[in-house]
Amino acid sequence: MAEAKILKAPGMAKCIGCYSCMLACARVIHNDYSPRRSAIQIRSTGGLQSSFLAVICRGCLKPACAEACPAEALVERPGGGVIFKKDLCTGCRKCVAACSVEAIFFDEDEKKPIVCIQCGTCTRYCPHQVITMEVRND
Ligand code: SF4
Ligand code: SF4
Repeated sequence: MAEAKILKAPGMAKCIGCYSCMLACARVIHNDYSPRRSAIQIRSTGGLQSSFLAVICRGCLKPACAEACPAEALVERPGGGVIFKKDLCTGCRKCVAACSVEAIFFDEDEKKPIVCIQCGTCTRYCPHQVITMEVRND
């Protein structure tokens, strides 16, 4: 069986802030056109020489979000990260609070978290190969 890969952002120096990745996640995974509904968030560092940083799920092997979920809506994904069972989610936000890198966002309309499922869709839309899916090395 192929080794599971997780989302990485090794090329942030080449990021032009086009938000193609965010729009892909919003459209393909969350069925919405708003980049707010994306599990990857690209942010400007600000200032005159501003560059961009990516807030992404680290694909933890023992995800704190899954441990914190009282509804078992988040379960460990083999190889890292989580599988999200939306139907079980009660919208309690404990996963949002548990994520140490603040990479789980919350959809105030749906009252559900926006969680990366490590699908790799966003990587296919980046025009500069800034983000990739890689076999973990830890
Ligand atoms: S918001 Fe949903 S997924 Fe997150 S901890 Fe609560 S029940 Fe689990
Ligand atoms: S890997 Fe999938 S779920 Fe995660 S940010 Fe990219 S498109 Fe969204």
